[in-house]
Amino acid sequence: MIGLSILGATGSIGLSALEIVRRHKEIYAARALTCARNIDTLIPLIDEFRPEMVAVLDAETADRLSRSLKGSHRPEIHVGTEGYKNAAAWDSSQTTLLAMVGAAGLEPALAAIEARKKIALANKETLVMAGEIVMDLAAQRGVEILPVDSEHSAIFQCLAGNREKDLKTVFLTASGGPFSRTPYSEFKNITKADALNHPNWSMGPKITIDSATLMNKGLEVIEAMHLFQLPAEQIQVVIHRQSIVHSMVGFCDGSVMAQLGVPDMRQAIGYAFSFPKRLDIGVEFPDFTRLAGLTFDAPDLEKFPSLEMAFEAGRQGGTLPAVMNAANEVAVQAFLENRLRFLDIFHVVSSVMGAHGRIDKPDLSGIIEADCWAREKAASLI
Ligand code: NAD
Ligand code: MG
Repeated sequence: MIGLSILGATGSIGLSALEIVRRHKEIYAARALTCARNIDTLIPLIDEFRPEMVAVLDAETADRLSRSLKGSHRPEIHVGTEGYKNAAAWDSSQTTLLAMVGAAGLEPALAAIEARKKIALANKETLVMAGEIVMDLAAQRGVEILPVDSEHSAIFQCLAGNREKDLKTVFLTASGGPFSRTPYSEFKNITKADALNHPNWSMGPKITIDSATLMNKGLEVIEAMHLFQLPAEQIQVVIHRQSIVHSMVGFCDGSVMAQLGVPDMRQAIGYAFSFPKRLDIGVEFPDFTRLAGLTFDAPDLEKFPSLEMAFEAGRQGGTLPAVMNAANEVAVQAFLENRLRFLDIFHVVSSVMGAHGRIDKPDLSGIIEADCWAREKAASLI
């Protein structure tokens, strides 16, 4: 039996992961589950999966949870960052799925690596903020980091059986989000409902907005740089509206390998759990005879300046990617709360990046300081 810690269990990725656990009870058991405050979703998961521990955001939520647990199963309840770190490093878990959203995922990720868990990584913000620290620690501890982001899972799968030094270019595919065909003149009228209406993927609200601004792809460029030890120049973003080709790898002989599938995150989650084996997870093949076509276009960098910002942050490194990520988190949250217009997400992120005095090779406290600075700066601009 493989014990799992699932951080962000009540979210889109967490619930997809638990579907896999439900289908393969003979292989997997959820030992630790976490969420922020959504105990209405967590309680039925506790009843069904009977984890040994759960962790929630604050004492008030822990209290509410403790009073609301009616079933016979009462897991230990842990609280806050310490609670999430305990969940990530839980003794009876061998694999930790990091599927919390945002910068809050960083410290639990480091705790899981310190405890030598196998890591299934969905939380891309962790690598954007502190990719060097995370990858160095994983190398020191001999820990495997298996990508859950569908593009990075695709790249990982395309690299299997090849020598990394033969890789020339990674083609990172992007659906383009809901606005790839919207003229820029209409961007000023984009509402929250428009932006939350992703054409192909059903995901949590933050990443859905990031997909609409293409900042998600920008974050993924930096994620790929760290996961596959590549300079920004070896990564090319390609718009592929159908989201069937999850990404591609080009080799030195001109050959290109692609990984295809329907847009369903269970594929990448299942592969991260079972690598190098594959699980039957009930996902069907694309119906190739019904696909009208697979198209590939260049991204529009003028409409979506987030991509260039991310490439620049990736190239410069140091504290700049953490600053970009933090400013983006604050701006997206403000947009989701109707306090900021869509176009101003770009303005806030770019202004905060422009005002930052970058520090090279920061340690963890340097990164956390830069993250806090960028949050305050973004909030003041908003
Ligand atoms: P979501 O919003 O659906 O779920 C987030 C989960 O994290 C929930 O369980 C929530 O309670 C918890 N959470 C939120 N804020 C928290 C905080 N401050 N502290 C602790 N827990 C907190 O998000 P999601 O779409 O499942 O995405 C999770 C992560 O996976 C993100 O980093 C995202 O970029 C990445 N990812 C998601 C998808 C997808 O298809 N949804 C694809 C690729 C990568
Ligand atoms: Mg992705």
